[in-house]
Amino acid sequence: AQARIGVTGLAVMGRNLARNLARHGHPVAVHNRTTSRTKSLVEEFGHEGTFVPAETPEDFVAALERPRRLVVMVKAGAPTDAVIDEFAPLLEPGDMIVDGGNAHFLDTRRREQALRERGIHFVGTGISGGEEGALHGPSIMPGGSAESYAALGPLLEDIAAKVDGTPCCTHVGPDGAGHFVKMVHNGIEYADMQLIGEAYDLLRHACGLPAAEIAEVFRTWNDGRLESYLIEITAEVLAHTDAATGRPFVDVVLDQAEQKGTGRWTVQTALDLGVPVSGIAEAVFARSASGHAQVRAAARGLPGPAPSRLEEAAAFADDVEKALYASKIVAYAQGFHQIQAGSAEYGWDVDPGAMATIWRGGCIIRARFLDRIRAAYDADPALTTLLTDDHFAEALGDAQDAWRKVVATAARLGIPAPGFSTALAYYDSLRAERLPAALTQAQRDFFGAHTYRRVDRDGSFHTLWGGDRTEIPG
Ligand code: NDP
Repeated sequence: AQARIGVTGLAVMGRNLARNLARHGHPVAVHNRTTSRTKSLVEEFGHEGTFVPAETPEDFVAALERPRRLVVMVKAGAPTDAVIDEFAPLLEPGDMIVDGGNAHFLDTRRREQALRERGIHFVGTGISGGEEGALHGPSIMPGGSAESYAALGPLLEDIAAKVDGTPCCTHVGPDGAGHFVKMVHNGIEYADMQLIGEAYDLLRHACGLPAAEIAEVFRTWNDGRLESYLIEITAEVLAHTDAATGRPFVDVVLDQAEQKGTGRWTVQTALDLGVPVSGIAEAVFARSASGHAQVRAAARGLPGPAPSRLEEAAAFADDVEKALYASKIVAYAQGFHQIQAGSAEYGWDVDPGAMATIWRGGCIIRARFLDRIRAAYDADPALTTLLTDDHFAEALGDAQDAWRKVVATAARLGIPAPGFSTALAYYDSLRAERLPAALTQAQRDFFGAHTYRRVDRDGSFHTLWGGDRTEIPG
């Protein structure tokens, strides 16, 4: 055996991950179903480190030090099962299979359990950062057993992104915890992108600013508390001119957003867990609505307010910055709530502050903001919601007037701002002394005898709505 670790599946992600390992001095065995990929990797990048090419699964497994560390980077779903079925019989107890693909965490739980019975560690691992991240340092979210992390952690931490010297990789928790957290990370990414899109749209259509000027606004924001990769690339995109037409690039891109599915999984899972991730859900639905070209075409002529422009663009831009920051706090608070709910449901004991720490580099949502989230959990590890952390509560209080003004302006001008609106509604719902949920419960008791609890006494009750309306124990 000559390799410390092996990678099978050498498309963009696997290839770059293998190169990253080799560049860090780890001899890496490489394998791919179609052998030409293996050959071209070694031909093109063999000089970057020690690659041990293997044509067959048997050769690949034989090339690995024991206990074996085998990273699978193939298409998620059935191909991952096919590859596991192919390799597992060649492995021995104590060996580790790392699935770095975008697996659903329930698949990861199923696979982990099946392999655990055979003494093999299955380590479902979220990897974020796309192909650039895989090569230069991704954010890595490994699940699986603590024992497997002891053997894998040093290697993974070595190739992960670093922020202030801290690797963007930590053991998330057992079985599917890593893929769960990666899923929520992607859901948060959807929400973040939607909010940025709404901020742009408001500056464009409420203030009439051209794209290039909005790019400048985003550049300024990137010097402040919103500093992040997504704000930075937004400025780049908005400043870009289409070579063919000379128009702002953003104006020649078809306005129908696509999705690969992790945002949808986040929302589906949140529904199952009963966690209100309305910001993430609005973002997923906004992409979906944008893609329904026929429905949009049918509805295009519906009446709206007469076009008008705000005079005070600079002041409104400041308000939008506040609305964006406040809505972002809500989206992250909802995502972290989901992580805590998943952790409780599956017994993972995920440390939310550590998740904020490993998202600070390598991944799409990397941002200065994440330091604030980490600080919030450092100050109070049992924090119920991020909204009440001192820093965030103060920021929300400071932003709320502007936030309300932005949401009201969007409604008045007929500019859709579902992310900003739902975030504000969530904030106000949590703040409210009383919610109309009381009426909902009363209605449910009326039509379905579903019972209700009272504010003044313990127990559950039912009112005989069809009779003399006396109250009986429920
Ligand atoms: P793809 O998802 O395009 O998968 C292609 C790879 O899967 C090839 O190596 C292919 O082998 C292999 N493969 C497909 N079916 C089988 C099978 N039945 N048996 C064996 N091998 C099979 O590659 P990516 O590099 O884009 O992604 C790899 C994984 O990483 C995916 O799960 C993806 O979701 C995830 N991911 C991707 C990111 C990205 O930015 N692309 C970011 C983070 C995670 P062959 O060459 O023989 O066809």
